[in-house]
Amino acid sequence: MDTYYFDNAATTKVKKEVIKEMLPYFNSKYGNPSAVYSMAREAKNAIEKAREKVAYLIGANKNEIYFTGSGTEADNTAIKGIAVKDRFKGNHIITTKIEHNAILESCKFLETQGMNVTYLNVDKNGFINLDELMNSITDKTILISVMFANNEIGTIEPIEDIAKIAKEKNIVFHTDAVQAVGNIKIDVKSIGIDMLSLSGHKIYGPKGIGALYVKNGLEFEKFINGGHQEKNKRAGTENTAGIVGLGKASELVKDNIDNHIEHIKELRDYYLEQVNKRISNIRINGALNARLPGNSNISFNGISGTDLLYELDNVGICASSGSACNSEETTPSHVLSAIGLDEQSAKSALRVTFGEFNTKEEIDYLVENLEIAVNKLRNM
Ligand SMILES: *Cc1c(COP(=O)(O)O)cnc(C)c1O
Repeated sequence: MDTYYFDNAATTKVKKEVIKEMLPYFNSKYGNPSAVYSMAREAKNAIEKAREKVAYLIGANKNEIYFTGSGTEADNTAIKGIAVKDRFKGNHIITTKIEHNAILESCKFLETQGMNVTYLNVDKNGFINLDELMNSITDKTILISVMFANNEIGTIEPIEDIAKIAKEKNIVFHTDAVQAVGNIKIDVKSIGIDMLSLSGHKIYGPKGIGALYVKNGLEFEKFINGGHQEKNKRAGTENTAGIVGLGKASELVKDNIDNHIEHIKELRDYYLEQVNKRISNIRINGALNARLPGNSNISFNGISGTDLLYELDNVGICASSGSACNSEETTPSHVLSAIGLDEQSAKSALRVTFGEFNTKEEIDYLVENLEIAVNKLRNM
């Protein structure tokens, strides 16, 4: 059976060009980048080239990019790195209720260490309220972390406004942009972002590689201790192939972003149109205007999203009931709860996220089988 992949927010297929660039760093150029001989220097040079490409993608300087082991590690480094560094300035962090667990769990951990955390509410579309943000700031606030775009419902937060507020109050602003990078044009300098997390496998690069952008001059405490790699900020022998892969993926994203956005938005809008036409009693979750181009999240009232996933899997379709990390859980999604869905609606949600490799024909197959599955489950 063919596979129909509609879970591009969970991960993406690695592009051929990316794999091709990575391969030499497993066999012919496997030297430790810290060594002095030329084979090792080649690896080191490849890392620095990749750093340039990642920087270029988000409008940063090359020396502002730190490679990490994942998007999760970039998030942990930002949150804990500022909390530890600035602990004598203050003990208050502001974030939101709809962050990825990489942020939420880092904050919860810091609460056990004496930090106070404000988790901002969101409205029914998933937007934070700027007045609430403003009113939450105290003279103890050292960090504001708000995700660029949400991984479940696709809502894009008012990042420029948030950055402006943070700057006025002299507070560090971090954004988890793991979903946004590659799907929205981002320029960290013009927006005024201090720290930004991104991940390789969400942009057609390999898993297990991420990056943290940290504005020049901003001090943070390292999160992984050991050797002097990454300017003494992230110890451990570099994942050369992974870094090279992230670099190539970033370059491809940058070269093709307008077409990419148009392509996935067209597919998403076609999908919504078809579902609206053929399936009744649904609820579209998340914002309609400021939304990731490839994201859809729909509650099919009266059925279980998990049951629906199994029905779809039987015909080769990969989708999600929320975020991949939560698919085993029986509690409803914290994001859908935060936008006001009751437990029943939250549990009947289906997230379908489109990517570069999807086609319109695949969506016809998806909608046809979705209609069959929803009808079957509703009649049971
Ligand atoms: C996927 C994701 C992460 C985690 O990135 P990994 O590289 O998988 O650790 C963090 N934040 C958001 C919003 C994500 O979608």
